[in-house]
Amino acid sequence: MQAPALKGKTALVTGSTSGIGLGIARTLAAQGANIVFNGFGDAGEIDSLQADVVREYSVRTAYHNADMSRPGEIAAMMQFAAEKFDGVDILVNNAGIQHVANIEDFPVEKWDAIIAINLSSSFHTTRLALPSMKARNWGRIINIASVHGLVGSAQKSAYVAAKHGIVGFTKVTALESAHTGVTCNAICPGWVLTPLVQKQVDARAMQEGISNDAAKKSLVAEKQPSGEFVTPEQLGALALFLCSDAASQVRGVAWNMDGGWVAQ
Ligand code: NAD
Repeated sequence: MQAPALKGKTALVTGSTSGIGLGIARTLAAQGANIVFNGFGDAGEIDSLQADVVREYSVRTAYHNADMSRPGEIAAMMQFAAEKFDGVDILVNNAGIQHVANIEDFPVEKWDAIIAINLSSSFHTTRLALPSMKARNWGRIINIASVHGLVGSAQKSAYVAAKHGIVGFTKVTALESAHTGVTCNAICPGWVLTPLVQKQVDARAMQEGISNDAAKKSLVAEKQPSGEFVTPEQLGALALFLCSDAASQVRGVAWNMDGGWVAQ
């Protein structure tokens, strides 16, 4: 039997206690990668989530609760990963939050938090992950951007600014690593039904006095021609491809998986 593709590698996935990050972490673990989980949540649930992954995929896992808005905690997490697993081979910068409001009503602290978590945290993890990746001449950095890294939507100023920023940061990281075995790419999902999007579904259902199901349908239909949500598992499969040898010359792309959103 062939060894799983990522056996012996370690993947650190920020914001992997929920949604897309969890989907990607599980996909990488299924291919043999040890996982460093990060994100908020109930301690008992995070323990059982790790236990499930260990049991299902026979990999090692660890968890660090660094707040991605705090550079000091990010540095502690990277140090923790280095000590626990001898460094990070695959870095998935995924943690993110959203806030929806017109610019003139946008709370300043929400702007700062979104830029810190959705953009600056990736600089802090990347700068600390690159030296050992370059020393081994192998690494994969995958930034979870968004269609909002490619196009805008009203009322999402901080999110769109952060996601366009991360697409730019992806290109620079790719260029600075271009002559090495380290690649950096961004994935740009359209709508994925996670807790981050469920909040927007709930707000729409309330504003328009419609059911949860009707709100989901109208939210997706507005932007995503397929009319269907993208799934964390599909995004996990794309991340896995970016980790493969076949993707070693995919460098600096912002790859949308969005049911046709950006094709319009
Ligand atoms: P989610 O709310 O399900 O998960 C977000 C994760 O980030 C959670 O694990 C949460 O604990 C963690 N997190 C939040 N703030 C954090 C902080 N300060 N420090 C550490 N961890 C923190 O959301 P999701 O939809 O899975 O989003 C994941 C990423 O995908 C985000 O970057 C988001 O912008 C992006 N994205 C989501 C969609 C979508 O439709 N859901 C579309 C495009 C891009």
